[in-house]
Amino acid sequence: MSHSAGRFSSVVLNSLTPVRSDSGFICTRPAFLDLPSTRRYRAFNMAASRVLPQNVRPFPAHYADPLLPIVTDSSRSGPARSLATSAVQLVSDSAVQSVLRSYFDSLLAAHGPQHWWPGRTRFEIIVGAILTQNTSWANVERAIRNLRAARLLSPHAIRCVHSARLSQLLRPSGYFRQKTKTLKSFVKFLYASYGGSLTRLLASPTQALRDQLLALRGIGPETADSILLYAGKHPVFVVDAYSRRILERHGLAHPARYEELRALIETSLPSDHQLFNEFHALIVHVGKNYCRPSNPRCSECSLSRFLPQSTLAST
Ligand code: SF4
Repeated sequence: MSHSAGRFSSVVLNSLTPVRSDSGFICTRPAFLDLPSTRRYRAFNMAASRVLPQNVRPFPAHYADPLLPIVTDSSRSGPARSLATSAVQLVSDSAVQSVLRSYFDSLLAAHGPQHWWPGRTRFEIIVGAILTQNTSWANVERAIRNLRAARLLSPHAIRCVHSARLSQLLRPSGYFRQKTKTLKSFVKFLYASYGGSLTRLLASPTQALRDQLLALRGIGPETADSILLYAGKHPVFVVDAYSRRILERHGLAHPARYEELRALIETSLPSDHQLFNEFHALIVHVGKNYCRPSNPRCSECSLSRFLPQSTLAST
């Protein structure tokens, strides 16, 4: 038995008697699991989202390479543009726009599409975005496997399951009590504001939905933007420790707040969720494999041509 919902379909998992959840309401199965009918996300390695130590001092940038021009939306202005401008103190806006597109082109040519985000459904992507806080992706995968085995990878099932049982299943992801509360909080919000519909939730205007997500317990900017980008295909860029480290090491931005770096990238590149998706995934790949906190492998890195020669020689 299945039901169409846009280009997603819902599949009835099973049928059991009504149960009372620990939040007090009656839950009945069958539970519904969103299954995208086309183009599932897939990936085999994910990065930890923990804040990594910085031990390389930012330096002024100079770029000798010919840089590819990109089409920009000159109508974008206001607070985001102001934040971006304040974050870039070493190079002009036009130089940042050109060099970021060149970064993307180099990364894509060197490493190919990364096929992010790993997750069979939009809800699984959201769960992964919440669970990846302060832990490695391998630990997230273990917790998600537990949820899948227990048939809890749906908003309805998470709403109904007792918190103690959910905590046990989430234990491999670390901070499992906090993450239990965050998942419960998200699902409660989903039902209260959108009747339990992920389609309605993710169809909301980007900024309004971002504000709503950020108001939830345990959801910070990186998690909210991961949900918006990877589950909702909203054109937002996910700033993480890797992008922060690379931008700072390349002199594109001084140490800056999350919102400043996000605005810098979003106003420097075309507003395209697929571009932001791939760019973030490629940056994580470089951050994990080349741009390590100590002893970065610059001489082997696809971004080395953007480094000043003096910095390349010292690494
Ligand atoms: S060249 Fe690569 S490894 Fe070196 S600082 Fe740049 S991104 Fe990091």
